[in-house]
Amino acid sequence: MNGKIDELKGLLAAPKNIVITTHQKPDGDAMGSSLALFNYLNLKNHNVRVITPTEYPDYFEWMPGESEVWNYLENPNIANIAIGEADLVFCLDFNDLARIEPLDAHILKSNAKIILIDHHLHPKDFHQFSLHDTKASSTCELIYRFLQIIDPEYVPSIEVATCIYTGILTDTASFSNGATNKNALNIVASLLDCGLDMMAVQENLNQNDREERLRFIGNALNRKMVIREDIGLGYITVTRKDAYYYNLQTGDTEGLVNFPLSIKKVKVSVLLKQEGRLIKISMRSKGDFSVERICREYFEGGGHRNASGGKSHLGLDETIEKLVGIFEREKIA
Ligand code: 5GP
Ligand code: MN
Repeated sequence: MNGKIDELKGLLAAPKNIVITTHQKPDGDAMGSSLALFNYLNLKNHNVRVITPTEYPDYFEWMPGESEVWNYLENPNIANIAIGEADLVFCLDFNDLARIEPLDAHILKSNAKIILIDHHLHPKDFHQFSLHDTKASSTCELIYRFLQIIDPEYVPSIEVATCIYTGILTDTASFSNGATNKNALNIVASLLDCGLDMMAVQENLNQNDREERLRFIGNALNRKMVIREDIGLGYITVTRKDAYYYNLQTGDTEGLVNFPLSIKKVKVSVLLKQEGRLIKISMRSKGDFSVERICREYFEGGGHRNASGGKSHLGLDETIEKLVGIFEREKIA
């Protein structure tokens, strides 16, 4: 925390109007960190509201506090009032206001103090307080650290423990990717002492799927995946037609991008998904190669070294051409 802990502790000492927000199409870490903080602050008698800039996947419906979350797109007027009245706004799991459009303008207009808690590279400067660490496995790890800083005596409730575990588990791809670290594992061990039920989370997250999503994954791997071992690249396209045919819901492509990386010679894997007039891009890499740089330089995005995202305004074929061109030049094979 950047030197102003006492000031922030002072602000939190009396009940406040607090808004918590996170990035568009929230993932497990975005939802986990927002709801962990919500469950903590709520019991400290603050007036707390979690506002997501867009919808989030139905498969987070079991999370403690989820029913209290507002999707900005569903009711912008009432969300704008909450933002206008906020004393504090927590920005979790993103560090660039473009990631919370269309909520960004209202947050900038408000007089609230902004607290950033995040682990992505290259944070923009729009906050008064920050807990930022790119070495953290997840924003949930930082929420755990944040609670220790502002309330050293606090023992996480089962609700808070469940939310923090969800973010650590999803951002580390179940303790398998490079984000996995000792802190994350220590935190999980301590959450077990707080009553965390890991199997319940596992059931809710990974044994709760729809048949049509599994058939969609099968088709994507069988027919849509392209492997270019010669340039170290694998990619999968998801079109509007696929989305219609398989009745895809928000979050249904989560995890799909990881599959091509299981091939030995694939160093970078990309998911290209038609969303409205945009192509949304998800990128993953092995080892030292930074897909954060590629997403930042070529696709208006960013994220982490081994997991990043961005977008393209070109058509699908042109975007693929651009992507293949980039990796012909990068020579990572
Ligand atoms: P995913 O591919 O799972 O959507 O995202 C991978 C990582 O990149 C996440 O940490 C996510 O927050 C970040 N990310 C995804 N899309 C974008 C984007 O358009 N811009 C930026 N700056 N980061 C993104
Ligand atoms: Mn995260």
